[in-house]
Amino acid sequence: MNQNLYLQFFDNFSRQPEKVLIDTAEGTSYRYRDVLDTSRRLARVLRERGVTPGERVVVQVDKSPQTVMLYLACLQVGAVYLPLNTAYTEAEIEYFLGDAEPRLYVCRPADRDSAERLAERCGDVYQTPTAVETLGAAADGSLMALAEAAEADAEIAELAGDDLAAILYTSGTTGRSKGAMLTHANLSANSQALAETWRFSSDDHLLHALPIFHTHGLFVACNIILTVGASMTFLPKLDPEQLITLMPRATVLMGVPTFYTRLLASPRLDREAVRNMRLFVSGSAPLLAETHHDFFERTGHAILERYGMTETNMNTSNPYDGERRPGTVGFALPGSEVRITDRDSGTVLAPGETGLVEVRGPNVFKGYWRMPEKTAAEFREDGFFITGDLGVIDSDGYLSIVGRDKDLVISGGYNVYPKEIEQWIDELPEVVESAVIGVNHPDLGEGVTAAVVLKPGATLDETQVLAALSDKVARYKQPKRVFFIDSLPRNVMGKVQKNALRERYADIYQ
Ligand code: ATP
Ligand code: MG
Repeated sequence: MNQNLYLQFFDNFSRQPEKVLIDTAEGTSYRYRDVLDTSRRLARVLRERGVTPGERVVVQVDKSPQTVMLYLACLQVGAVYLPLNTAYTEAEIEYFLGDAEPRLYVCRPADRDSAERLAERCGDVYQTPTAVETLGAAADGSLMALAEAAEADAEIAELAGDDLAAILYTSGTTGRSKGAMLTHANLSANSQALAETWRFSSDDHLLHALPIFHTHGLFVACNIILTVGASMTFLPKLDPEQLITLMPRATVLMGVPTFYTRLLASPRLDREAVRNMRLFVSGSAPLLAETHHDFFERTGHAILERYGMTETNMNTSNPYDGERRPGTVGFALPGSEVRITDRDSGTVLAPGETGLVEVRGPNVFKGYWRMPEKTAAEFREDGFFITGDLGVIDSDGYLSIVGRDKDLVISGGYNVYPKEIEQWIDELPEVVESAVIGVNHPDLGEGVTAAVVLKPGATLDETQVLAALSDKVARYKQPKRVFFIDSLPRNVMGKVQKNALRERYADIYQ
């Protein structure tokens, strides 16, 4: 049987051709039949450009409904969709093109010249001629012109579940981005598990303000909508006032934690504004328990936090019906397993003990693109993937992420979990948020170091923070130094870049 993910969406196109699938804030809307027609024309263009199953199509464009049509066309012809962060510079793109060796590179119209230069250079080195086409946010560019002139192509590539649907590069929070190979079966299993867990139906309407070069905006959001035959409003970026204005005609919002803090900053966010909404989902970075509580007080909605990563899609989720516990990421999704193991010995730990988060299931990727050794090193013999996150499962089965293994601070031989210290600091009334890192220290190996963001107008000094912690945590966990900064360095997905902080404070103990 053909395992192409495209078939999981296909029935919706024939069942409800007149229904709107994607609209925009400007009032443009695309029905299911429009999306099907354009994606079939794009499929023809891809095939005419020589794209065959298994070949990569690199896409670095601004968000638009046409990008989704291109994604569908890639699935249809069996190409491997490879989206890139729109913020990447020429030097970074050169690395990705060289790594991915795409048959086709779709870029923004303004980037055409540099894209052609890069494609040519990569072609020289790798002997794979890379064609370049452009796609603009206003449905402009050479690719759409070709599609308009092309005839629809209805042929769906015959694929195995194990064939690649996409390569997504990780966010690069802890080092150089790695290409995660995701199969048709991975994406299919995860979108079905999520649609079921979060009770999606064709009546849902999603507010989509996330980027679509990342697993959250592309797979979690778009694949669920396409699976259940629902609809969504595409917004280019987060604008809290616009979201609040649009909420009465939507049912679900998916966001990173910053979405929720920014929404809370608007006095317009209240019970009336969210009266039509049934679900608010958060992920990609930890949601502060305080944000969860404040949002509940203001709107009556408990934000549903889930946990996932580029390599695995989504792993766990708080329950739809049961208690959504702030500060936790809930239980394993149906069909997936989660366990905690000891950092050193690898043995499975009991509830309440902190260690490595490992996951197994149909959602877990095939491996890192062209990195067989790295892939082998991150998998256990029994198929569990070592996520690189540290966590603890409580006696009720809720998983909490306590930080990344690479961010664990080892001071004087003792493990210090940053999140524990950050939570104590964040409880101080003057504090918005904090980040605890390990910085090279001549005696201790690493010195526990805190960067703290204060509320506007609040005053607090280093001694006061240290005094507040002195009876809360053991001495070895207490920061050696506390610094105050205006904001924590974050990437576009709202992830705190602890590498940047470690660099900034690298010399303080020398
Ligand atoms: P890289 O692997 O390149 O360093 P990255 O891990 O940030 O970057 P992603 O795959 O985008 O790249 O992010 C996955 C990570 O995001 C997870 O491993 C986890 O650390 C974090 N994360 C995702 N959801 C949550 C959540 N709800 N709570 C805490 N952390 C989360
Ligand atoms: Mg990662």
